[in-house]
Amino acid sequence: MQFKPVFEKRERPVLIAGPCSAETETQVLHTAQALAPLGIDLFRAGIWKPRTRPGGFEGAGVAGLHWLRRVKEETGLRVCTEVANTQHVYEALKFGVDVLWIGARTTVNPFSVQEIADALCGVDVPVLVKNPVNADFKLWLGAIERLHRAGIHRVAAIHRGFSYHGQSRWRNVPRWEFAIELRRLFPDLQLICDHSHICGRRESLLQVAQRAMDLDFDGLMTEVHPDPDRALSDAQQQLTPTDYQQMLSKLIVRRSETSVEATPTDLQHLRHLIDEIDEELFQLLATRMRVARQIGAFKAQHNITILQTARFNEILERATEKCSALELSKTFIETLLRAIHQESIEQQARVMVGALQAAKG
Ligand code: PEP
Ligand code: MN
Repeated sequence: MQFKPVFEKRERPVLIAGPCSAETETQVLHTAQALAPLGIDLFRAGIWKPRTRPGGFEGAGVAGLHWLRRVKEETGLRVCTEVANTQHVYEALKFGVDVLWIGARTTVNPFSVQEIADALCGVDVPVLVKNPVNADFKLWLGAIERLHRAGIHRVAAIHRGFSYHGQSRWRNVPRWEFAIELRRLFPDLQLICDHSHICGRRESLLQVAQRAMDLDFDGLMTEVHPDPDRALSDAQQQLTPTDYQQMLSKLIVRRSETSVEATPTDLQHLRHLIDEIDEELFQLLATRMRVARQIGAFKAQHNITILQTARFNEILERATEKCSALELSKTFIETLLRAIHQESIEQQARVMVGALQAAKG
């Protein structure tokens, strides 16, 4: 798949900002008037709000589209809103909404995404695709593919984190590896970080925005409200326009690398070291697996099960005791050892099958 940029390439990050929900005409226009001088690229406001439970504010509906049209006329800003079905698409396009976004609760449903893609067939409007609520990479990819097949090539992805059962410092756990993989697969797909929905609270917005910049995201989507505490949705995570401006002023935007020739020699040297160390690691792992295969042959001969839980626990425990002295996180050590252990089991299983076949002659 090849994509066309939704946003012009610039030195600074792409900025999408605006309230979680369009609540009143005054609220929408005040926010837009405060944001326009900051040079944002796109004004956001939810018109139809997907609320987890009924009874909350479910959006202003079509009335809000009139307000967005006024934003365009009075500030010159481009505007975007969330669409979840064909009706939303038709209404939004009728009112001249410049960019559409598909929300996390819609990306999870291929029927809804296909419905939107069908409604957009032959329409040249950019679409931003949020990751699905659950951490399923293929659903995110599938939604992007459905739009691409419908001829929508101006597509960008929005990383808004994944829901999580249990205690967490995040509203939606970032799982950055999803965004990194999307970038690896589709380098020309623009990637926006919706740090508001990742954080769920104002305090950590800058920190997460900075992480997004350091991971080479193209831009940020931020919820901004003139009176956040009184917002009808997502009150805890919205910023006033002044706080938004302040957050932006603290953001360090680093340059993303362009070519190997442009890489400073010090960095080239360190990367060379990393390559050598990786090579040693692979050799060591290969040696470790050779020994595992010998163990497999021994177990086959003496009728011993491959899995020896007590032994694996002992290895895990010994390793995790050392992790802080080694300056490695416990999670990393455990993940690594589990992967090595799994491969070792597979290799031993192959040896056992081989031994059985040899015995049968
Ligand atoms: C939103 O952007 O206000 C929204 C509802 O987001 P999400 O789909 O990421 O939950
Ligand atoms: Mn919101």
